Amino acid sequence: LVVLENVNKHFGALHVLQDIDLTIHKGEVVVVIGPSGSGKSTLCRTINRLEAIDGGRITIDGALLPQEGRELARLRSDVGMVFQSFNLFAHKTVLQNVTLGPLKVRREKADVVTRRAHELLDRVGVGSQADKYPAQLSGGQQQRVAIARALAMEPKVMLFDEPTSALDPEMINEVLEVMRDLAREGMTMVVVTHEMGFARSAANRVIFMADGRIVEENTPEEFFSNPRSDRARDFLSKIL
Ligand code: ATP
Ligand code: MG
Repeated sequence: LVVLENVNKHFGALHVLQDIDLTIHKGEVVVVIGPSGSGKSTLCRTINRLEAIDGGRITIDGALLPQEGRELARLRSDVGMVFQSFNLFAHKTVLQNVTLGPLKVRREKADVVTRRAHELLDRVGVGSQADKYPAQLSGGQQQRVAIARALAMEPKVMLFDEPTSALDPEMINEVLEVMRDLAREGMTMVVVTHEMGFARSAANRVIFMADGRIVEENTPEEFFSNPRSDRARDFLSKIL
């Protein structure tokens, strides 16, 4: 579904993505882990073209990522993204946060969009919060709204960049549970996370990055019980 071939990206002299080859199949859950600064966020951001790449190619459903204009807007609806910092629109209600994209970008009918938004908010467990503003919700609730907002665009793939890192411990699980449900329902997902329990239980594949490269790629069982590289072994010894 998503194919990266020999992708390279620099920030000035810094080579943040080096010769990245990665194929993400439909319905697959790929967890990306690795030390700070290894390029995990940049990798996510190139897949929805928040960052341009300077070498290689990325295709989604066989089509090259568009560079600009209406095509780019459509790409952004095909690729949902959830950030560490929720990024909800503070001056809009929960419901408006979820309906805005489908109304403005996809120009769908208001009644259709509103119905779908209520369904999605129910599905992520915040159905009763629809008329509140983001600041009136807990972090875990806000992040679940952010997930509903991304899903409202009916994406082909969902990218999660440390979606639980800004949350208090007791709220982490409610967000991971929503993500597990999504995975079970067959959503294609790329998840950057330090939640190793989630990686073990929900990932089909673990990608370990260091210094802008994919150092190791394996099933979670193999990766956690028998990491092949010194970098991965060293990383795991620090976090487990
Ligand atoms: P973390 O675990 O801390 O989130 P990460 O693996 O997500 O780290 P990235 O955010 O992808 O790492 O950053 C990779 C490298 O690129 C880092 O050295 C970072 O400082 C640098 N970098 C990221 N964004 C930019 C930017 N817009 N301009 C310049 N350098 C950047
Ligand atoms: Mg990051």
